[in-house]
Amino acid sequence: MQILGGQLLLNDDGDRARIAPGFVRIEGQQITEVVEGEIPSSLDFGGPNALIAPGFIDTHLHLPQFDMIGAHGMPLLQWLSDVTFPAEQKWSNVDFARSMTRQALQQCANVGTTGICAYATVHHPSTLAALDEATMFGMRGVIGQVLMNRNAPENLCRESKQLIDEAAATIQAYPPHGRMAAAITPRFAVSCSSDLLSAAGTLASQTRAMIQTHIAETKAECELVNDLFDGVDYVNVYQQSYLLTERTVLGHGIHLSPQDRINLRDSGSVVAHCPTANSFLRSGAMDRRSLVDDGVRIALGSDIGAGYERSMVRVGRAMIETASSRGNVFPSAAQAWHQITAGNADAMGWSDSGRLAVGRPADLVVIAPDIPWTSGDVDPLAMLMFAWDDRWIKQTFLHGRKATETQS
Ligand SMILES: [Zn+2]
Repeated sequence: MQILGGQLLLNDDGDRARIAPGFVRIEGQQITEVVEGEIPSSLDFGGPNALIAPGFIDTHLHLPQFDMIGAHGMPLLQWLSDVTFPAEQKWSNVDFARSMTRQALQQCANVGTTGICAYATVHHPSTLAALDEATMFGMRGVIGQVLMNRNAPENLCRESKQLIDEAAATIQAYPPHGRMAAAITPRFAVSCSSDLLSAAGTLASQTRAMIQTHIAETKAECELVNDLFDGVDYVNVYQQSYLLTERTVLGHGIHLSPQDRINLRDSGSVVAHCPTANSFLRSGAMDRRSLVDDGVRIALGSDIGAGYERSMVRVGRAMIETASSRGNVFPSAAQAWHQITAGNADAMGWSDSGRLAVGRPADLVVIAPDIPWTSGDVDPLAMLMFAWDDRWIKQTFLHGRKATETQS
């Protein structure tokens, strides 16, 4: 049993987080008590100036890309062929993939991330190894074997039937609704034939597994999809393949028409906004406001390694900055804190994550800012987000287990 006390980050106020003093009791793998009020004087973790937050959730990242962050200066399609595909080829070695997964998960935990929606590579044994490592590590989330059968190096492409059989095997081994589950992961329409996309959509409806892919990240990619699919636009390519569901997470969604947004809203699919990756590859600044106004469900992701920030707090800040660069209506820090915790959990359909609540898995972060953030005139949640320092993270709990490597 452990008591964590300080300012609690609570998500019971619509789309924004709030803070209140109090404590959280964890026993074994679970949260067994959440009490607002006086901060106990005897604590295992925290203190009057600490923030106790639900673990952060990253809804779009690539495990094999943690070693190639910072390959700057290329647009998406060149970045894929020059840097990303060579990095992913290294996952043909299962031991390499396993070790890299472990390191990537540790990096996530060190910045407070306890839930991930992640891509592996096309390699089936390495995807299973990544799922196994993530399970042992205690991470919440999904990982998917990337499906590609064209427009990628030959050794990263497979026959459609083999890919679908292997994806089905990963789902059988790591079924939906497990703490760690397999996701159906066609990389994007450019690297998948229409047969492969349809087979992936069919497998998704048979298994109810989550689906993750990319959409409308750059204009050149949208034009290529148009050419490859006889003039059918990007959203409809996925729609016709039964890939737009309430369990679908679409990375990026920058270059969307008003009709695209309506179609996405009607499908219930989630767009994972990745502001740091978008600025890094100069793909464009997503019009988050229009998506929200049109009722499209939105999540937030780091998109490592096009995204260069592993910390979801910094990605939350980038979401605010990207939106404010486009106009005067932008999310507040309280909304950004909500997004990286409960907002992302809700978008993933994870009712066991994102909130400090009794009975939920103890996925928590203990943060000890070195600034007097609760006593000034500035909104405390804004001060924390904009002055953020990863060294403030004192401990990350994954399913009740201490997972932070670097402590001071
Ligand atoms: Zn991505």
